Amino acid sequence: MKRKPLVAGNWKMYQTIAEARQLVPELVRGLQEIMGVQKVICPPFTALLAVKALLEGTDIGLGAQDLFWELEGAYTGEISPKMVAELCQYVIIGHSERRTYFGETDESVNRKVKAALEAGLIPIVCVGETLEENEKGLTEIVLQRQVKVGLQGIDLKLDEQERVPLLIAYEPVWAIGTGKAASGEFANNVVREVIRPELASLFGDQVAQATRVLYGGSVKAKNAGEFFGQTEIDGALVGGASLKADEFVGIVAAAAEG
Ligand code: PEP
Repeated sequence: MKRKPLVAGNWKMYQTIAEARQLVPELVRGLQEIMGVQKVICPPFTALLAVKALLEGTDIGLGAQDLFWELEGAYTGEISPKMVAELCQYVIIGHSERRTYFGETDESVNRKVKAALEAGLIPIVCVGETLEENEKGLTEIVLQRQVKVGLQGIDLKLDEQERVPLLIAYEPVWAIGTGKAASGEFANNVVREVIRPELASLFGDQVAQATRVLYGGSVKAKNAGEFFGQTEIDGALVGGASLKADEFVGIVAAAAEG
């Protein structure tokens, strides 16, 4: 099954509107030459409108970093799926920083994924074990639970073009922002032996094989090829390196080479 690679940049809480206005044209210049890869950038909410305007006429998609599950209401500070969908095609859900610092649970991830799909957004659902879980041999159990509970009650199907309207990002927490990426082989084995089988048990083999699974955790231009050369890894979710145009362009170029 051929899955089109996707590379998404998670800007986290970086980039004011003024800074984004400098970075985006540099990204567009580097990325517009590269074919065969879906490119997505996920700025903070405050910069989305400005970045959307700068991406007009390019093939670069726009994503948010989170949303709330209610469509509207008295929820001070929250952003609803319909608000995100006015601007974006994608939304990151369940990033480990949200799970660690903001009390996000598999149950809240599940409500957000359902709400995002209902709004027509493509969720990038993040899963990953902590260092402690990894060292205790709990990687498999943790990932199975995160996928199962995060996606429960969802009727995930192929669309007419045989695509699945959701991506998984496997991001071992110990590899995020640490400069210590997992090995390509380790990440590939986790996707093949844990994540796809769990998807298959929930949605069947066809959906499991068609779902794109990204790797995230200290991906840089110089190590990206190690991940994109793996059979089960369909792209990357990139944090720190997505804030440097040459790094991000280098990662997307590596994804195009496969
Ligand atoms: C991320 O924020 O999802 C991430 C993978 O960060 P970094 O690339 O900086 O490790």
